[in-house]
Amino acid sequence: MKLQGLNKSFGANHVLQDIDLELPERATTVIVGPSGSGKSTLLRSLNLLERPESGLYQLADLQIDFSKKIPAKQVLDVRKKTGMVFQDYNLFPHKSVLQNVIEGPVQVLKRDKNEATKEAYELLAKVGLKEKADFYPDQLSGGQAQRVAIARSLAMHPEYILLDEPTSALDPELEGEVLKVLADLANEKQSLIIVTHNLFFARQIATKIVFVEDGRIIFDGPTKDFFNEQQKNTRIHDFISSMT
Ligand code: ADP
Ligand code: MG
Repeated sequence: MKLQGLNKSFGANHVLQDIDLELPERATTVIVGPSGSGKSTLLRSLNLLERPESGLYQLADLQIDFSKKIPAKQVLDVRKKTGMVFQDYNLFPHKSVLQNVIEGPVQVLKRDKNEATKEAYELLAKVGLKEKADFYPDQLSGGQAQRVAIARSLAMHPEYILLDEPTSALDPELEGEVLKVLADLANEKQSLIIVTHNLFFARQIATKIVFVEDGRIIFDGPTKDFFNEQQKNTRIHDFISSMT
């Protein structure tokens, strides 16, 4: 997917400024930057949860011009191609783990319930939670809940999975089990876009790093280059120092 000339303001606050960005398929892009720099707004724009005032957005065969009204059909198409995983999981509290995973495929994609259930068990096995299928969200740890949220997202077969600080609410010992699932997906070449503060993880799994500061892209390139640039680029240096 690709963004060109993206601008987003909240009132007088110009949160994203002339963003040009390519987010490759079958790769892992990690977005980093200080709090309030616009990372979530950028990620949410890709799922149309935010509507930038201007910019072009290309996603597979879809072309969106944010300065024009987006037809409802296109909004649905974008949402089908981009699955969002939130920091606080957003599971349906009154539905079981299994029901959470099959809800979208059955209700939105109109898939056969038995088939969706069969696949849901496979996805739950993939995230290590097959035995929790009949549990409810309040019976899960945060790490388990987030893995269910990832399985639920996978069940929709999106082209990209967007994750906004997926482990920020988790204790370190639970963070690892979520990061392992994400690393597995990255190895399988699932297209991932991850906002995270975990630079150690970013360094391990990112194909490329996008560093955002004050609504602008300060760095966009291969992971190795980002960490190598810290000698030359004081903003990258200061950011990495502040995080580690
Ligand atoms: P990050 O995810 O990098 O911490 P955000 O994208 O959440 O940053 O926020 C970027 C800026 O936009 C911040 O100044 C924030 O206060 C502002 N902002 C985010 N969402 C809203 C909103 N819904 N209404 C008004 N301002 C917002
Ligand atoms: Mg954020």
